[in-house]
Amino acid sequence: AEAALRQAQKMEAVGQLTGGLAHDFNNLLAGISGSFEMIDRRLKQGRSADIDRYLSAGLGAAQRAAALTHRLLAFSRRQTLSPRSLRINTLLPEFADLVRRTVGPSVAVQLHLADDLWPTLVDANQLENALLNLCINARDAMPSGGTIAIATLNLPLDEEQALARGLDAGDYVAITVSDTGVGIPQDDLERVFEPFFTTKPLGSGTGLGLSMVYGFAKQSHGIVRIRSTVGQGTDVRIYLPRNHVAEEAVTSERLPPEMQPN
Ligand code: ADP
Repeated sequence: AEAALRQAQKMEAVGQLTGGLAHDFNNLLAGISGSFEMIDRRLKQGRSADIDRYLSAGLGAAQRAAALTHRLLAFSRRQTLSPRSLRINTLLPEFADLVRRTVGPSVAVQLHLADDLWPTLVDANQLENALLNLCINARDAMPSGGTIAIATLNLPLDEEQALARGLDAGDYVAITVSDTGVGIPQDDLERVFEPFFTTKPLGSGTGLGLSMVYGFAKQSHGIVRIRSTVGQGTDVRIYLPRNHVAEEAVTSERLPPEMQPN
């Protein structure tokens, strides 16, 4: 069940990044069945006119559909990459552009990057998937528009502060996705990390987004916390432990991939 859940979460992330591809895929399938129908009709009429044309149209569509699935599979395989020492700030400007394209013009996307952010040990693709899930939730919470803010912070936590968050004392990098949306009622707030919990209409939500984010934070030895006020908005914050081997990571960037430490 664990593996199946992980797989489902992976597919969910794939689905969200590549929603447009499903649409393209459907169009190609429509082209293929259209060609088959035309061939079937010709055969029933006992005529061979245009059959070769329909065959090659159908074949072409099938080949493009296969190429699409290959891209999807290659993408989902990338999800299992191992963690590397990363200063998250370096990937956020490009990520924010992806979010802007995804959420559309009625939602403003702001970036607030901490100066000299500490490095963390993290898988960049998984982090981006987690953040994209959060941004899509934020957009869904703002049907008539609003603001998504993505912020990073160096966060040293003493014993007491760490305990309050279910963490060990130490240095953390915090990354927060905030929205100005509808917020989450208290009863729901306790359930949002449960797999398959969703308040979205059938077909538009899987209830796996936040449980995937939760799993990602856990795997990265961090935690995810959510704060929300109905009518005002929601903050989701991922805490990731500071990676103290920054020097080594800087050196490793100059090594070929097969020589880099994991
Ligand atoms: P899904 O988005 O498919 O419903 P998630 O696990 O990502 O699955 O979210 C579960 C539920 O948590 C959502 O259906 C929604 O009710 C609530 N939720 C998550 N993020 C937000 C947000 N930023 N604002 C308001 N509600 C949210």
